[in-house]
Amino acid sequence: MPVAQPRVELLSCTPDPLSLVYAAFRQCYHAGFVGDMWPRLVAGEISREVQTGFVTAIMDSGHTSPIEHVSFTFAIGGVSRALTHQLVRHRIASYSQQSQRYVDGSHFDYIMPPAIARNPEAAERFSQLMETIGAGYRDLKRLLESEGRKGSRANEDARFVLPQAAATNIVVTMNCRSLLNFFEHRCCNRAQWEIRHVAEAMLERCREVLPAIFAVAGARCERLGFCPEGEKFCCGRYPVRK
Ligand SMILES: Cc1cc2nc3c(=O)[nH]c(=O)nc-3n(C[C@H](O)[C@H](O)[C@H](O)COP(=O)(O)OP(=O)(O)OC[C@H]3O[C@@H](n4cnc5c(N)ncnc54)[C@H](O)[C@@H]3O)c2cc1C
Repeated sequence: MPVAQPRVELLSCTPDPLSLVYAAFRQCYHAGFVGDMWPRLVAGEISREVQTGFVTAIMDSGHTSPIEHVSFTFAIGGVSRALTHQLVRHRIASYSQQSQRYVDGSHFDYIMPPAIARNPEAAERFSQLMETIGAGYRDLKRLLESEGRKGSRANEDARFVLPQAAATNIVVTMNCRSLLNFFEHRCCNRAQWEIRHVAEAMLERCREVLPAIFAVAGARCERLGFCPEGEKFCCGRYPVRK
């Protein structure tokens, strides 16, 4: 049962994202119909610098609902069920996750936390446990199948012994406003290491595609210039607010 490697792939994004956000913002303050402006936007008649400047100024004012019109879809793989349990707590999103009923877990991949991997004794114990759990899963599946519970009907009960370390794949779609909230929470040093690494990889891709929105995204302290977590939880990157 191999140790899985995390992967974050941007599958898709709303076409013409900057122009779309610009058009949505402009409609709020423009007496005319933005549909008439759209062909000029798509043709590049209004420069990206102008669009970016307008979007940035409005974003700074806290008016952020127009960025909900643009969504990003990521495939996230080779991550633990511990990570995806945290990920799906973000409700303003859509998810499609690999099923533990329809996908056999007899030889599941797993994620070994780096702190355990660095300690040879802990790593050995961890690997043994994964092998033991895999063997237990296969035994349970065989016993269930011998009673006539085949395929997914055996998997759905045998999976109860799978660990949080078990690897999984998931597709997630979030709009830009939800992504900003996600990055504020999960790029923070307080976030758990695995989801933080995934969030940082997602943010990198978002910045490449739509810097007008994501250039200054990340943990809240990056935008605020101080740590809102308080003395007890502050990592020291920024001073806490007095
Ligand atoms: C460091 C860290 C530690 C955490 N520890 C725990 C823990 O110990 N236990 C635990 O249960 N969770 C924990 N969480 C999860 C956290 O409480 C949130 O559930 C998670 O981060 C999702 O954030 P969200 O609700 O802002 O996102 P979303 O669900 O995507 O919601 C986005 C925004 O929409 C609004 N919203 C959504 N739904 C509602 C609603 N029903 N009512 C009002 N407003 C709504 C809110 O403004 C919210 O911020 C932790 C998160 C972090 C980052």
